[in-house]
Amino acid sequence: MTTEPAAGSPSPSAARLQAFDSLDRLSTVELRPPNLPGGHVARLYDAARGGGDPISRRIAVRLGELDRSRVAIFTGVVIPPHLPMAEIDGPIGAIVLGRSLAMLGHDVEVVVESCQVGPSQELVAQAGVDGVAVVDGALWTAHGARLGAAIAIEKISANRRGVRHSVLGTPIDAGDPATDRTFTELLARGVLTIGIGDAGNEIGFGSLQDEVAEILGRAAACRCGCPDGIVAATATELVLPAAISNLGAYGLAAALSLHLERAELGPTPELVSTLIEAAPRLGFLDGATLDPDFRGDDGVPLEALRAFVIIMGAIVDQSLRDMEARPF
Ligand SMILES: [Zn+2]
Repeated sequence: MTTEPAAGSPSPSAARLQAFDSLDRLSTVELRPPNLPGGHVARLYDAARGGGDPISRRIAVRLGELDRSRVAIFTGVVIPPHLPMAEIDGPIGAIVLGRSLAMLGHDVEVVVESCQVGPSQELVAQAGVDGVAVVDGALWTAHGARLGAAIAIEKISANRRGVRHSVLGTPIDAGDPATDRTFTELLARGVLTIGIGDAGNEIGFGSLQDEVAEILGRAAACRCGCPDGIVAATATELVLPAAISNLGAYGLAAALSLHLERAELGPTPELVSTLIEAAPRLGFLDGATLDPDFRGDDGVPLEALRAFVIIMGAIVDQSLRDMEARPF
């Protein structure tokens, strides 16, 4: 990962860098319920960041310099019978970040599992988001119009032995296994690849496997005895660890709005509310409660998620204010 500012992107002021840092710190605040492993996210973030600029800024700079192109956002978990169609975490962040990228003129494709195409299209329609198409992962191809970037949000990765696992170590054989290969090929071709994850078993964390294994410790073990555990083997050029993957996507959308000084690109609490209210009615389940009547994400209630998004917006607005120096 580069720590140098990208060409054409002037170095930000220390105050502006602090704002990106605040966005990243906010999206790594854990509120997990006790049935999910916790306590690892800040260390995963530190490992991914190394000594450089806030990760959201590095990604925003790269996304901000893209010419108009296709941007593919891969997301969607399916684990029958517990998550028979989809989990809330992932698709909602993909739509929120996809909206920001579509507003920049990119042709955004949200690439999901085959069973998730119809409900995801309905989710996009109910949110009134323009410029975001939903594509069946089994049919998606990198061929065609120039692909500017591929982003994975909460997309389960294979480990070094090719086995995908839930965060609790259960092997997963449902869903399209080709996404790992897609990211490996795109990374090798030099296409910008980005991963957002919250546990270490998602596409992106393959770039820091040893660090993830050390940070997770016993939580990296799997229940199938494969015996390589849950740590992701599939790497991306840039990886953003967050407390909830969707929260990382909201933070990245906010960072993009800050970097480009266009507040309208950021996430809004209204959009997040609309999506999280609509998703369970369409079959997307909260990954912690598995309760179709719960309104939230990874067990965190919607009211708290709205508060995160409101504060993200405030961080951006405060940083973009034009103010006279205080006279004393
Ligand atoms: Zn295993």
